[in-house]
Amino acid sequence: MQRRTLGRRRFVALAGLGTVAALSASGCTSSDPTAPQAVPSNASLLDAFLARRGGPIGTNGQTAIAFRCDHHLNKFVSNVLPLHRKYSIPVTVATLSRMAAVERGPNGSDTVTFAQLQQHALENGFEIGNHSATHRDADSEPRLREEIADARRSLAQSLPKLPIELFIPPGVGGTNYMGFNGGATLSAFSESPAGRLIMEQHALSTGTIRGFWSMTGEPLANLGRGHISFESLDAISRGRGYVQLARRQRQGACFMYHPSGLNAAELVALEGFFEWCASERDAGRLEILTVGGLLTARIDSAVRHDLLAAPGVGGPAWDGWNVPAEQWTLLQEDGRDVARSRTPTAVLSRDCPLGRHAGSPRQLRVFLRTLRGCRVRLQVFDAGSPEGLNVTKDVVLRGSPGFVPVEQYLTLPLTGTETLRVSITATTGGGDIDVRQPELLAA
Ligand SMILES: [Zn+2]
Repeated sequence: MQRRTLGRRRFVALAGLGTVAALSASGCTSSDPTAPQAVPSNASLLDAFLARRGGPIGTNGQTAIAFRCDHHLNKFVSNVLPLHRKYSIPVTVATLSRMAAVERGPNGSDTVTFAQLQQHALENGFEIGNHSATHRDADSEPRLREEIADARRSLAQSLPKLPIELFIPPGVGGTNYMGFNGGATLSAFSESPAGRLIMEQHALSTGTIRGFWSMTGEPLANLGRGHISFESLDAISRGRGYVQLARRQRQGACFMYHPSGLNAAELVALEGFFEWCASERDAGRLEILTVGGLLTARIDSAVRHDLLAAPGVGGPAWDGWNVPAEQWTLLQEDGRDVARSRTPTAVLSRDCPLGRHAGSPRQLRVFLRTLRGCRVRLQVFDAGSPEGLNVTKDVVLRGSPGFVPVEQYLTLPLTGTETLRVSITATTGGGDIDVRQPELLAA
């Protein structure tokens, strides 16, 4: 093999990935299907992608899923965004850098600005993938550059608070990007000019290789992995079955929808599936991540980066938190540290620097218990200026004898915010709210 000299490119041999090698061999003319595949990747981009998330995302034995929305942002905002917010479910949006120009009308993307898209992403833990400039074929290397590299740069300029590090190949027809063919084989990423350009410009790419997603924590093992289309009532109604099958195989799954392709009945079915996924997550049987998170999920590990973890393992509980003694009593229950409210209004807060984790989607998870019912406000905001980020979730909890999780996903701004403040305000009679130490997990 010819040795490439392009900067910090590295080759990773995917040994032992029988499924991937076998699946990719179908469209491959020369290579031995049992031989490890060499995949070029941009080491510095991949390192930044992983560092943002604090390494692979351990799911502690649970399967993980992700949702992908393919452009058509007008209908996304009106029809599907409210469902993602209602059930606290993140989504990765495949975005065209020239969306307003090429997608017009009710099913287009021309009523949503990049500023609005960025705001939705920050406040709900969404991720943006580069889905090309125009969704049209490119039959020459200069055209490939426009659709892949120029689109990435343009999206990064339009969405300065979000990293654009994932390519989501569009279906284009024609020459299919000079033989790249939507990333249908692993070799397309090393042997076609489009694949090489994608890998030079992005940390990772999805594709159309069939099958569930590996959950080994090695993102390149999922390079080119495809999705399950939610394009019909029949497909959506099989959603639970797919999750249960992936669970049995200790793998993950990615579901994709086009917002303008969902009619009223399909939206109802999608909501039903979201409700089920959220309840499985809240019961601790499922993780819901972004596509980037799913790429690096690891089922046999419990190690998952938490921006709010006390510095130093085994440090004192609530280390780094502002827990006013007149408002809270600290106690231990079943080996866990709990703060119990003493006053009608009690506030917990903590500041944390973003550092190299800026740009990562996160899942804020707080376990709460109230016997008589209460109101709780979760807030995550830029400690320097609320204009940088300001996410607020108000929750009304009914009384219950057990702890219940409250979830809110958000994306840490890539630029402009240095320190985040997380606060939890509980309102009820003193003594009735117990809070476990919150987590801000990589997602
Ligand atoms: Zn598309």
